[in-house]
Amino acid sequence: MQQDAEYEVPYAEHGDQYVDGAWRPALDAGSIPVLNPATERVLATVPAGGAADVDAAVAAARRAARAWAATTREERLALLTRLRDGLAAHQEEIAATVTAELGAPVGFATAVHAGLPLAVTTSYLTLLADHPFEERIGNSVVHAEPAGVVAAITPWNYPLHQIVAKVVPALAVGCPVVLKPAEDTPLVARLFARLVDEAGFPAGVFNVVTGTGAVAGAALAAHPGVEVVSFTGSTAVGRTVAETAGRGLKRVALELGGKSANVVLPGADLARAVNVNVANVFANSGQTCSAWTRLLVHEDQYEEAVALAAKASAKYLPGDPADPRTRVGPLVNARQRDRVRAYITGALAEGARLVAGGADAPDGLPTGFYVRPTVLADVTADMTVAQEEVFGPVLAVLAYRDEDHAAELANATEYGLAGGVWAADTATAAAFARRLDTGQVDLNGGRFNPLAPFGGYKNSGLGRELGRHGLEEFLRYKSLQY
Ligand code: NAD
Repeated sequence: MQQDAEYEVPYAEHGDQYVDGAWRPALDAGSIPVLNPATERVLATVPAGGAADVDAAVAAARRAARAWAATTREERLALLTRLRDGLAAHQEEIAATVTAELGAPVGFATAVHAGLPLAVTTSYLTLLADHPFEERIGNSVVHAEPAGVVAAITPWNYPLHQIVAKVVPALAVGCPVVLKPAEDTPLVARLFARLVDEAGFPAGVFNVVTGTGAVAGAALAAHPGVEVVSFTGSTAVGRTVAETAGRGLKRVALELGGKSANVVLPGADLARAVNVNVANVFANSGQTCSAWTRLLVHEDQYEEAVALAAKASAKYLPGDPADPRTRVGPLVNARQRDRVRAYITGALAEGARLVAGGADAPDGLPTGFYVRPTVLADVTADMTVAQEEVFGPVLAVLAYRDEDHAAELANATEYGLAGGVWAADTATAAAFARRLDTGQVDLNGGRFNPLAPFGGYKNSGLGRELGRHGLEEFLRYKSLQY
């Protein structure tokens, strides 16, 4: 049955922020409309928080900090288990909310936008149960203590996953959190706050301030009451956040943009490598920081790979995200749609060859922020589309001469977040992957592992999320000598 996303998320004018354990009237004036990117209609409004809301939230977090840091592992495990159970019980509502405000196809929203945060939360229950918070080193005992009040600033592309990847490990080790979610996707953040509330966390341990990045985000990153700033978003804003945090000598973790390469070495299963790449880059309408946006193929196999990519892309027709058959929904907003279309036009002007998709609106979708899934051939490393993050359903196919050239091309951007390598065997793929300046590499289609550290080399960021490494981002160490 076809679902109507707006039926699942009825229009609401929200006037409150989740601060100090309750929904309280927003202190700052102003509101932000939340659009359904498939219909372009307003779904809801949320408060545009500012300095007063941020102050109140940070003050609540500071009041809660000492008692929360002093809780036992078992107390935190009990609360986080209730939160995990709440996430599990609300998978459908989470998916419907993300479909409505992000435009993610409901199948993908269910499997990934709802499923991944549940998997990550579950992984932290196991990690918390086993984490050694004390270590003996010679005549010292080193205590791992919570690093203090955390400001979590998150983007819209995997809106709940990015919240959970920060908030759950921070809470797990005993840090209170103030979250500033992206302005395009605040509804799933509000839903998460409801689940935290229902789990029974003490007042002030978790707070949400909705608002714009320039006002609420900037106020939070600069707030003297914040000790750790954990930011996911664009490299440009990440730089500003790091500068601000640096002035306050706050710890900062940055998960930023990417321009990841998928390298197919001779001897690999070319058809599989190309099909998986096409699925990877069109998932979430290409709005994935770790997407393999550059497919690198040996020049002898180049035309075959281009033809395979064009054929595979025909299966990705954009459509209504609430229809379970849809594989590609709209982009999040009009600005992103226009930006991505401009990258396609620009690439063609720079000499790229269009083999699928294009910059014009998809047929039969006059409304909604849709972009046609696009494959560009004859892309060279100097082109803008090979250097800049497009953040849309656009695959660039590049040719390499030999392995050294492939490694050079793969590394020839300012980014280094993810990547793929395909070879006749995994040992060959692993040896090549060691040459890549990037934080994650999937070998012959290796699956995403929520326990492995995730984060960037170069301008893709600082610090790591997920697994044990993600937990350690929120700890500081005290050595006692005996
Ligand atoms: P963005 O940088 O514009 O915004 C991210 C968040 O920062 C939002 O909550 C925004 O309101 C806030 N913000 C904006 N200006 C701010 C300021 N001056 N001070 C403090 N906060 C501010 O990014 P976006 O467009 O929402 O997200 C897309 C970007 O995120 C892409 O570049 C993508 O690659 C990146 N991303 C990275 C990862 C990763 O893990 N590396 C994951 C997802 C997305």
